[in-house]
Amino acid sequence: MTPATFEYDHPDRDVAAFKRSVATKLMYAVGKDPFAASQDDWLHATALAVRDLLVERWMATTRASYAQDVKRVYYLSMEFLIGRTFTNALLAVDLYDTVKAALADFDIDVAALGEREPDAALGNGGLGRLAACFLDSMATLGVPGMGYGIRYEYGMFRQRIIDGQQVETPDYWLTRGNPWEFQRPEVKYRVRFGGHVEGRQAYGAAKWVGTHDVLAMAYDTIIPGYGTQATNTLRLWSARATEEIDLSAFNRGNYFEAVESKNHSENVSRVLYPDDSTLSGKELRLHQEYFFCSASVQDLVRRYLRTHEGFGQLHEKVSIHLNDTHPVLAVPELMRVLVDEYDVNWDEAWAQTQKVFSYTNHTLMHEALETWPVEMLGRVLPRHLQIIFDINARFLGEVAAQVGPDTDLMRRLSLVDESGERRVRMAYLAVLASHSVNGVSALHSELMTQSIFADFARLFPERFNNKTNGVTPRRWLGQANPPLAALLDKRIGRGWRRDLAQLEALKPMADQPTFVRAFRHAKRENKLRLANWIEQHMGLVVDTDAMFDVQVKRIHEYKRQLLNVLHVITRYHRILDDPHGHHVPRVVVFAGKAASAYVTAKQVIRLINDVAAVINADERVGKLLKVVFLPNYSVSLAEIIMPAADLSEQISTAGTEASGTGNMKFALNGALTIGTLDGANVEMKDAVGDDNIFIFGNTTPQVAEIRAKGYQPRSFYEGDAELRRVLDAIQSGAFSPGEPGRYQSLFDTLVNWGDHYLLLADYAAYVAKQAEVDALYRDPEAWTRKAILNVAGMGVFSSDRTIAEYAHEIWRTRPVMLGKAG
Ligand SMILES: *Cc1c(COP(=O)(O)O)cnc(C)c1O
Repeated sequence: MTPATFEYDHPDRDVAAFKRSVATKLMYAVGKDPFAASQDDWLHATALAVRDLLVERWMATTRASYAQDVKRVYYLSMEFLIGRTFTNALLAVDLYDTVKAALADFDIDVAALGEREPDAALGNGGLGRLAACFLDSMATLGVPGMGYGIRYEYGMFRQRIIDGQQVETPDYWLTRGNPWEFQRPEVKYRVRFGGHVEGRQAYGAAKWVGTHDVLAMAYDTIIPGYGTQATNTLRLWSARATEEIDLSAFNRGNYFEAVESKNHSENVSRVLYPDDSTLSGKELRLHQEYFFCSASVQDLVRRYLRTHEGFGQLHEKVSIHLNDTHPVLAVPELMRVLVDEYDVNWDEAWAQTQKVFSYTNHTLMHEALETWPVEMLGRVLPRHLQIIFDINARFLGEVAAQVGPDTDLMRRLSLVDESGERRVRMAYLAVLASHSVNGVSALHSELMTQSIFADFARLFPERFNNKTNGVTPRRWLGQANPPLAALLDKRIGRGWRRDLAQLEALKPMADQPTFVRAFRHAKRENKLRLANWIEQHMGLVVDTDAMFDVQVKRIHEYKRQLLNVLHVITRYHRILDDPHGHHVPRVVVFAGKAASAYVTAKQVIRLINDVAAVINADERVGKLLKVVFLPNYSVSLAEIIMPAADLSEQISTAGTEASGTGNMKFALNGALTIGTLDGANVEMKDAVGDDNIFIFGNTTPQVAEIRAKGYQPRSFYEGDAELRRVLDAIQSGAFSPGEPGRYQSLFDTLVNWGDHYLLLADYAAYVAKQAEVDALYRDPEAWTRKAILNVAGMGVFSSDRTIAEYAHEIWRTRPVMLGKAG
C-alpha cells in the first residue's frame, strides 16, 4: 500500500506521511533542494502530492464506469472558468488541515501558497463559470460526465486600470506549468479544414478531400467530487501541427518557412475570445469551434466503439450537451462521421443525433445569437455546409408536408437566413438537432419560447424546458467564506456542502440573538479581508462599518452599471446638499471586464473611475461615500468580494439577463439583493421571501409596453430635476474637468439616442428603493435577520440541484456505483 492510499484512509492522522510525500515530489518531480525551493516550487510539489490522491480515485471511477457501461454525458463548452484548483482539491479530499500541518513543519503557510496559484481563466464570465460549477456538481453527484473544451494558452485577458481606463494584457497562465493537467500525446485527432467535397449525393456519403489539417492533442484535468470517490475528467484540446511539414518549402531550403507554417496552424488554440454576449464573427473563432467539436466527437465515438458494435445503441450510451451554440458544429460533425466514415444511412444517423444532443440557450439578445456567413462556412467546412443544407431541406420539406405551403413560415424557420448576406442560424440548428432545449431560469425559459424560438416551440413543444442555474456550495461558500462555513458547521452540521437544502435549518436561528451576533461577526471578518485587499492593492482605506454595496460582473449596457453610477452621483449630491444629514455610509464596489472592442462599456469603466476619483478626494464627503473599481475581476477575486458584500446589485433591464449566477453567490454569502424582476432574481425572490429582497423597476411586460408606445427618455430627463442634475454633471465634465466632453456620448446614449436599456425609466424607482435599503441598514439587527433568511432560502440554487435535474430529465443517466476507497 502506497503512502498516498494510506493517507486517504486516515486523512486526519498522517501528517508525517504527507510531509514525506511533499518532500519526495519537491526533490524528484520538481527537482529542487528544499533549501533552495521557492514558494512556487513548494506549491507545485504539494499540488503533485495532492494529485496522487486524486489519481487513485480517478482510475477507480474510470474503471467502474467502463465495467458498468454507464451512459456518459459529454458537456461541450467553449469556456470553463475554473479559477484556482489547489484549495478546492484539498477541501474535496478533506485534507486541508493535514496539508496545513504538514506544510507548517516546513515553515510554509498553506493559505499563502494557495494564493500564488494562477487562475485557470478559460472563460469570460457567467457561461464559463456555470460550466465549472457543473463539472464540480457532476463529479460530486457521480454523474459519469466529461467536459470537453479548448486548452487556451492565453485565457481571459488581465485587466489593468491606467488613468481610469481599462488596459488589457495577455494572461499566459501556463508559465510555471500546470500540475493539475496530464498531457496525452497519444490521444491525438486530425481536424480538417478547407478543401472540397467529391461524390456528393443529397443525404448520402461523400468524400472530403484536399484539406489542410491540424492535430488536436488531449490534456486531461481531474475534477474531484466532494465527499465521494467519484472524479471526472475535463479534457481540453490543444492544437499541434501535423507531422508532415511543407516539403516544398523544405526542399527549397527554406527551413524557416516550413517551420513557420507549422506554428501558424497551432494558433487555433492560442487565445480565448474575450467577448461576452457579443458575436465577433471572426474566422479564427469558427476554426476554434470546429476544432474542439471535431476532436471531441471523434474521441467520444472512438470510446463508444471500444465496447459497442454498430451505432444502434449510441443514444443509450452517449449524451452530448451543448453549452450555448458555440459547440453546435458537433451536430454536422457527428453526422459526417456516421454517414461518411461509418456508412450509417442518413435517417438512422439523424435519428441517433437527435436523441444524443441537448442544448442550453444562454441569451435572447439578438447581437449574441451566432450566425455564420454561408460563404465562410462553405470555404472552411464545405462538407458541413452541405450537411446543414440537407438537414434544412429535409426539415422544411417535412414542415411543408405537415402545415401546407407557407413561405413566410419557411423563411422564418429556415436554418439559413436569406434576408441579407446568407447566414446559417446556429441556434436553430441546435434546436432542430436536440431532443431537449432548455433556458436557465423560469423567466428566461418562458421568454425563449415566446420570442426567438416561438415557431419551433409551436412545432416541438415537448422539446422546451427550464433548468434554473445554480452554483457550487463547495467553492462559493465552503472555500470562499471560511468564517460563515465554520459557523454553519457548528450550528447545522457539515451536510450542507452536499445538500444545500439543509440551510433551511437556519430559518429559526434568524431570531436567536447569539446566532445573529455570530453571523454579523463572520460578515465583519469578510469585510475586513476585502478592506485589507483594497488597501494593499489600491491604497484606499475603507470603513468596514459602512455598507458594502457591490456590483461585480462583466461590464455590459444591459447589466446597467451606469444606472448604479447615476445612483452614486445622486447620493454624492445629497451629501453635498446636506452635509450634516443622517446619511448611511456606503462603500460602492465595482469590478468587471469589458470586451476589448466594446467602446461604451469601456467608457462606463472610465466614468466609474473618474467619479471615484472626484468623490473619494472630496473632503466634504469623508467616510459617507467611497467608490472603488477593483481591477481584474476573476474567480479568485470574486471569492474575496462576494462574502464581504452587504448589498448585491442585480439591476439588469427586465428581460435581458438569462439567469445570473453572481446574484446567487451573493445571497448565499448573506448579502441582500437590490434587483429587477429579471433572470433568476424572480425565483430568488420566491425563495427568500418578498420581505427579504429589494425589488424595483419595470417588469418585462412593462418594458415591452414602454418600447411599443415609443419610449421618450428625454421626458424623464426633463421631468426629474435630481436626475437632470446627475446627467448634467456627467455631460458637463464635473468628473472629467480636464476633458469636459469626455462623456458626451454616454449622455447622448441615455438622453438623445433612445436609452435602449431604460435606465432613465427605472431611475426614480431605483433611487427610492435604495432609500429603503438605507433605512434597513440603520437597524443592524433587522438587516442581519434578513441576511440570514437569504442564506436559509438559497438551498435550491445549488448547482447540485440543477445537475440532478439535467441528469434525470435531459440526459437520463445514472450515477456510477463506486466501492470503498483504497
Ligand atoms: C459568477 C461569476 C460571473 C457571473 O456573474 P453574473 O453577475 O451572473 O453576470 C462572472 N464572472 C465571475 C468571475 C464569476 O465568478
